[in-house]
Amino acid sequence: MARDFYEVLGVSRTATDKEIKSAYRKLARKYHPDVNPGDKAAEARFKEINQAFEVLSDPEKRKKYDRWGDQWELADQFEAAGARPGANPFGRGAGAAFGRENGEGDFFGDFGSIFETLFRRERGGPRAAGGNRRGQDVETPVEISLEEAFHGTTRTLNLQTPEVCRTCGGMGEVAGAICHACEGIGTTMKFRRLEVRIPPGVKTGSRVRIAGEGRPGTGSGAPGDLYLLVTVLPHARFERKGDDLYGEVEVPVTDAVLGGEVMVQTIDGRVALRIPELTQNGKQFRLAGKGMPVLGQAGKRGDLYVKVRVMLPDQLTPEERKHWQALRELRAAATRR
Ligand SMILES: [Zn+2]
Repeated sequence: MARDFYEVLGVSRTATDKEIKSAYRKLARKYHPDVNPGDKAAEARFKEINQAFEVLSDPEKRKKYDRWGDQWELADQFEAAGARPGANPFGRGAGAAFGRENGEGDFFGDFGSIFETLFRRERGGPRAAGGNRRGQDVETPVEISLEEAFHGTTRTLNLQTPEVCRTCGGMGEVAGAICHACEGIGTTMKFRRLEVRIPPGVKTGSRVRIAGEGRPGTGSGAPGDLYLLVTVLPHARFERKGDDLYGEVEVPVTDAVLGGEVMVQTIDGRVALRIPELTQNGKQFRLAGKGMPVLGQAGKRGDLYVKVRVMLPDQLTPEERKHWQALRELRAAATRR
C-alpha cells in the first residue's frame, strides 16, 4: 500500500493549501537528491514527497484523493459508474479544497530538472491505472511489395513495449519505498524483436492482427493486440484493383493481324495467351485466376486483365518493305471496293 499523502507531507487532512506548500517545500529541500548525493532512501523519499504534493496541491486531485484514496486516479470512472467510496481507506471525506495561489511558480526553480522529470514523466503504468484492464492495442505501419503481398511475407519488428515491472509487480513500490527498477512508474521498457507473418492477399489498408503483442494489461487484464497497418507499394508492371491485376501484353503487329500466341508475364510466371485474328490495339483479355490470392481463402485468386499493345517493327529489311508496300496497295484496293 502507498503511504497516505497527508502522512507523507506530515500535514493534517484539513491542512490549507499554504500549509501543504510549506510542508512540501521544507521536505523537498531536505530530501532533494542534490543535497543527498547517492542516498537512495532520500531519493525515494523525495519522489514520494513530490507525488503527494502533486496530488494535494491540486484542488481537483485532492478532492478525488479525499474521496477515493489510493485509487483517486480512477475517480471519474468510479463516479461515472455510480460507485460509492466504500473501499476508501480514509472513510470520511475531509479537507476542503483550496485554490492554488498565484506566484508560487518561482519556488520550483530551486529544484531544476529532476523536479521537472518527476512531474512531466508520463504516469500511465499499471499503478496509475489500477484494476484489471485489458492493455491497449498498438498499430505499426509496414510497407510491402506486390510480390510480398502475393506470396505472403514476414517482417521483423523491433518493439519497445512497456512491461509490468518485475521487481514490484507493477505497484511502483516495494515495502513502502519507491521501486528502483521502475522508479515508481510500475512498468519498465522491454526491447524485443518479433517476427510477424503477413498472409498472402493483404491489401493497402489491411490490418494484420497479432494477438497479445500490444500493451500489457493491468492486474489480471489481458494484453492488447498488435496491428500491422499494411501499405502495398506500387508495382512497375501491374495495377491492382481488389484481387484483380491489370497489366499489358505486347503483341507483334503480324500476330495482331493474323492471330497467334504470345507470352504474358503474370505475377508468378509466364503463360501463353492465344490472340485471335485482327486483334485491335487496346483490346483487353482476361486470364482467369491469375490475379492476387484472396485473403483468407486458400487457393482462391482474382483475375489478371491484360491490354494489348500492338508493336510495330522498328526496322525493315528491303524484302519486308517490299511486302508492306504490296500490302498497302492491296488494302487500298480492298477499301475502294
Ligand atoms: Zn517497479
